[in-house]
Amino acid sequence: MRLHLLGTAGYHPNEFRDTPCLMLPECGLLLDAGTGMHRLRGLLETRSLDIFLTHAHLDHVVGLTYLLGLLHDRPLERIDVHGEAEKLQALDEHLFSPFLFPVRPAFTWRPLAGPVTLPDGGVVRWFPLKHPGGTIGYRIDWPERSLAYVTDATAEPEASYLAHIRNVDLLVHECFFPDGWEERAAFTGHSCLTPVAQLARQAGVRRLVLVHLNPLARETDPFPAGVQSVRPIFPDTQVGQDGMVIEF
Ligand SMILES: [Zn+2]
Ligand SMILES: [Zn+2]
Repeated sequence: MRLHLLGTAGYHPNEFRDTPCLMLPECGLLLDAGTGMHRLRGLLETRSLDIFLTHAHLDHVVGLTYLLGLLHDRPLERIDVHGEAEKLQALDEHLFSPFLFPVRPAFTWRPLAGPVTLPDGGVVRWFPLKHPGGTIGYRIDWPERSLAYVTDATAEPEASYLAHIRNVDLLVHECFFPDGWEERAAFTGHSCLTPVAQLARQAGVRRLVLVHLNPLARETDPFPAGVQSVRPIFPDTQVGQDGMVIEF
């Protein structure tokens, strides 16, 4: 299974990174719809798309408006946008207000109720995360592999969501701050480097990729001291880059 990182910055894009969007082309799955959505077109392999939103902050949703142009000459049979009911309602009312974006792309809102089974048999589950306004993380299980996506949350070695990400093959976790910014991280609902690595170890995940990086930090390496400092805690730690393809 291939995971494409289409956007790895938090908050706003910079010269090297777009805002959050992950894609698994083989199963027509997108996680979040940030500015990285513009990279979707060349990767379409399926006749349908399932887009799962973590929350409705603009850096995670603005790309929904891009679908109109991206799919204009490549209409799909089905596009479902999944998320918490109140977040979808807010997007319907505000992001797609005629004053903001007058033409609605052809998708259907799908408020999350129970686990969602993807066309390829993968099962998507979600769990609540603490963040201003609230957000959710996702875990997707296939018979042969598993993936968890946690963004806009504050990692701790014993985080409340640890059980939901336990033993996944690939954990894609946010890491907006380097170490030393713990107070700011807790206040804004984001993570520092070391606690993310500690959590990955505690959860027994196989591999860790960091996303939702601070766009004002150095573009290609947002961690001034690199991630070597956490390799003794969790060896397979990698900084996500836009365009990166991860086989898992
Ligand atoms: Zn964000
Ligand atoms: Zn947010």
